[in-house]
Amino acid sequence: MSSMEERGEVGVAAAPGSSSGLGVGAVGAALETVVGGPSMQEEVGFRRGEGLGPESDPDEPPPKKRMRLPEGESGKLEERLYSVLCCTVCLDLPKASVYQCTNGHLMCAGCFIHLLADSRLKEEQATCPNCRCEITKSLCCRNLAVEKAVSELPTDCPFCLKQFPRSSLERHQKEECQDRVTQCKYKRIGCPWKGPFHELPAHEEECCHPTKTGTELMGILGEMDQSHSRELTLYNSIFSLLCYEKIGFTEVQFRPYRTDDFITRLYYESPRFTVLNQTWVLKARVNDSERNPNLSCKRTLSFQLILKSKVNSAIECSFLLLKGPYDDVRIKPVIHHHAFSNDTNETDYVPLPITDSVECNKLLAAKNINLRLFIFQIQK
Ligand SMILES: [Zn+2]
Ligand SMILES: [Zn+2]
Ligand SMILES: [Zn+2]
Ligand SMILES: [Zn+2]
Repeated sequence: MSSMEERGEVGVAAAPGSSSGLGVGAVGAALETVVGGPSMQEEVGFRRGEGLGPESDPDEPPPKKRMRLPEGESGKLEERLYSVLCCTVCLDLPKASVYQCTNGHLMCAGCFIHLLADSRLKEEQATCPNCRCEITKSLCCRNLAVEKAVSELPTDCPFCLKQFPRSSLERHQKEECQDRVTQCKYKRIGCPWKGPFHELPAHEEECCHPTKTGTELMGILGEMDQSHSRELTLYNSIFSLLCYEKIGFTEVQFRPYRTDDFITRLYYESPRFTVLNQTWVLKARVNDSERNPNLSCKRTLSFQLILKSKVNSAIECSFLLLKGPYDDVRIKPVIHHHAFSNDTNETDYVPLPITDSVECNKLLAAKNINLRLFIFQIQK
């Protein structure tokens, strides 16, 4: 019985993608968690260029599957399983959640989300690249059997190049591999050394950083203090905004629309909402209205706040978008200022402070974008 439990855990631990550092349990959780991994971002970008790029015609049969396989007789079954279990879009073995279309074609989480995001940008129904059946978050389900089977397949440790089951690779890479990249323990006082784990003791033995003088260390610590203090300033300014007399906030829902240009573009707009007794609207656009955002790997969203009410005198405000209560999106808070009057009722477009393109695709793939807006009115 305990072996059953162990297996279950192993499957889970394997999934979040070996190097993502997202930690355990991420897989079991929904795909949101999974796609957020930093390593996934590069992957998705890379795969996109390769598999989903402008040249790829959905009518064409998929290109021959890439073989990155162990050699020799023992590899035979694994070899066949690789091509059975791989993602039908990027042809790699999925590292995290696996989704399937209603006909059973497999897609890794990154590709699935990317297809949904692309379809939103092009205003087309997303379809399975293999059988063209409709795909949506509700029509496609996870395939746990495939996820677990993949976690049992052998893979190479990128550091020592030995083979391990995918399920144990993460632990090996983090804790056991003698060749894993490590940093000197004096990194905190500025040692830049990085190297394989087995060379670490020798380096730390002869590392010059512990013998540096106080004066030298002061310089290093000064740099670190600066980045901390930037963060602190941000939080302090948020706290001081929270002391204002007039504060309003609301949940805003950005809904997707199309421009009526010849080549229509996706943009987002919220319904009108009332905060601080004024009527407002938020608008958002993708890649600053670049002509074909679906052709680029880098995705950004920017937004503007528009005052719809007429006002007698200018109202000066600070405003801030944060994650809403019901959505899982990672936002770094940024405070903006604007004096709204009847002539200057729109702010410039400013970047929506999401962490990266993967996060952006997650928002595009969702039906609506839900965030929380705070407006602080500055009173003279
Ligand atoms: Zn894929
Ligand atoms: Zn299909
Ligand atoms: Zn290793
Ligand atoms: Zn060192």
